[in-house]
Amino acid sequence: SVFGYSDFSKQAKIESKFLAVPDAKAAGEDLKTLTAEPHLAGTPEDQKTAEFVAKKFRAAGLDTEIVPYKVLMNQPKVVKVEAFTADGKPLMVGPQREEVPGDPFENNARVVMPFNGSSGSGDVKGDVVYANYGRLEDFDHLAEQHVDLHGKIVMVRYGQNFRGVKVYIAEQRGAAGVLIYSDPQDDGFFKGDAYPEGPWRPDSGVQRGSVQYLFKYPGDPETPGVASTADLPDAQRVNPEGNQPHIVSIPISYHDAAPILKALKGPSVPQSWQGALPFRYHVGPSGVKVHLVSQQDYQRRTIWDVIGKIKGTEQPDEWVVVGNHRDAWVYGAVDPNSGTAAMLESVHGVGALLKEGWRPKRTIVFASWDAEEEGLIGSTEWVEQHAQQLEHAVAYFNVDVAVSGPNFSAAAVPSLKQFVRQVAQAVPSPTSGETVYDSWRAHRNDTSEHRPANAPNDGDVRVGDLGSGSDFTPFLQHVGVPSTDIGSGGAYGVYHSVFDNYAWYTMNADPQFVYLQEMARVLGLEAIRMANTDVLPYDYAAYAREIASYLDAAKKKAADSKVSLDFAPALAAADRFAKSAQKARDAEDHPSGDVAKLNDALRQAEADLVTEAGLPNRPWYKHTIYAPGEYTGYAAVVIPGVNEAIEAKDPNRATQQLGVLTKCLDKAAQTLSGVR
Ligand code: GLU
Ligand code: ZN
Ligand code: ZN
Repeated sequence: SVFGYSDFSKQAKIESKFLAVPDAKAAGEDLKTLTAEPHLAGTPEDQKTAEFVAKKFRAAGLDTEIVPYKVLMNQPKVVKVEAFTADGKPLMVGPQREEVPGDPFENNARVVMPFNGSSGSGDVKGDVVYANYGRLEDFDHLAEQHVDLHGKIVMVRYGQNFRGVKVYIAEQRGAAGVLIYSDPQDDGFFKGDAYPEGPWRPDSGVQRGSVQYLFKYPGDPETPGVASTADLPDAQRVNPEGNQPHIVSIPISYHDAAPILKALKGPSVPQSWQGALPFRYHVGPSGVKVHLVSQQDYQRRTIWDVIGKIKGTEQPDEWVVVGNHRDAWVYGAVDPNSGTAAMLESVHGVGALLKEGWRPKRTIVFASWDAEEEGLIGSTEWVEQHAQQLEHAVAYFNVDVAVSGPNFSAAAVPSLKQFVRQVAQAVPSPTSGETVYDSWRAHRNDTSEHRPANAPNDGDVRVGDLGSGSDFTPFLQHVGVPSTDIGSGGAYGVYHSVFDNYAWYTMNADPQFVYLQEMARVLGLEAIRMANTDVLPYDYAAYAREIASYLDAAKKKAADSKVSLDFAPALAAADRFAKSAQKARDAEDHPSGDVAKLNDALRQAEADLVTEAGLPNRPWYKHTIYAPGEYTGYAAVVIPGVNEAIEAKDPNRATQQLGVLTKCLDKAAQTLSGVR
């Protein structure tokens, strides 16, 4: 049963009417339209997709505007990679074109050459060192082996962390440049047949992507904390160096990486560093010299968010925001336009209700973000612009890579994990007879998604924690809006390449578009439930359990790393939080008296976990429980202030951060204990 409604049968009728509308074929048509041309953020083709989405929003009855921002982004002018043997003989010249036999999309002149967003420009030559995935432990291993990285070109493979982290550490260790390649072990033939025979990455496929320091702050690098509206004076922009590397980084295919790795000499790699190319890998630095040229054109470019609103009848200031990015590195059939096509069918469903005279109690805002790929820019600027109104927003529901296959997965704040499971229980799965939840349960040990779920398994299906890498970050981690992120995953080896296109999608992911329909239903139902519920469905008892487990783990880590800390006050506060949370659960299950006051307290409790001062060294991040890890990027670091101070072996900072956390937990406990 769905808790939170005074009139269940009325809500059930609305929900079943909604669920009948999203249409697989219509979603497939929208996907085809959205992905007809490459639509990199800030290009005319991107603007055209904004107009298409705006037209669809308006047709459904949404109060719609296209919102421009002026933001700093680079586009590539020249990218070149050459390699030579030690005695100067040419080994390779690249990059090679992305091409496979028979792909109908690869020849478009508007396909942008592979490059990294936020890369430095430069012309550098140097010896090569192979650093595996470019994780902190990989670089530390090289340091232990006395491999000096000063002036070197570091070659790393994609995977395990956010690419910006690889470049961040390489630059800290003195590297002159970075090459990031896709090893076939991670998303190529080692996994299965490569495109066009199968879904995995072909030898010429390149993963583009941003190397911004998103763990410092995302968004327009010149305006942290401030919206870069078209009329923002230049004087208010800052030097962008805070969130991007200075050195050159270039993404390449394994076709181009293989000759370099093959010729590389020096010590043989540890076994876990060996990839799937058919020769032994070596660390370097002898055997190969590499020449990198990267000329990046940095300009303030215009981007376009599309915002469509349905005003709530009872609590118009309590927004439910649903969002997906629209911009793509190239065609973006999976990333992000499977999400856009799904969202448009959610809008179609909500529009059908509107035409029958239905209105939500709270305001629903649908958002089509731009320039996510360059660093969550469209969503971050909008959140920064509306930070005050968002203090009352009751949820942000994200979808990005909506469909790459049949396996549903979700991440959420703990207070909404049960909510997501309940929504999944109300939506039919395209595989006969079951619900989305049932098929989710059936494959719950699968971890094929590129953003891994890392929450403890509490006996039910895992709902992951929100780290970063998509547009929920500004909502949750900058202003404290309770958020979720959903997707349906599968074998997906064409991420950020020219091959993430309509042909690949219909061959591999979802030929009948039934998973687009499924995602449209789940996303739309999240919005309709949250907008219409009498009592907000946040489960703080679940939140308290997770926080207690985070504190236990941190305590153990502190002991293991011999950082002496007093956890007693924080643990006591977590206990008080758990007790008030249980009280709040009881009040939610049996609401009486002032429901508006109960809802205010429930929403306030998440806000209590946000601190104005933000995290040490990265004040844009204000949430005390979740942040993207400085050395992971995608994966969340939990109670980040405390854990990162322990990792840095800084007992003073750790004590101070435990104090901040204790205060927040006490504030939230206080807020929730006042529910009756
Ligand atoms: N989804 C994007 C990526 O993973 C996010 C980029 C960013 O946050 O900088 O590349
Ligand atoms: Zn995306
Ligand atoms: Zn992407």
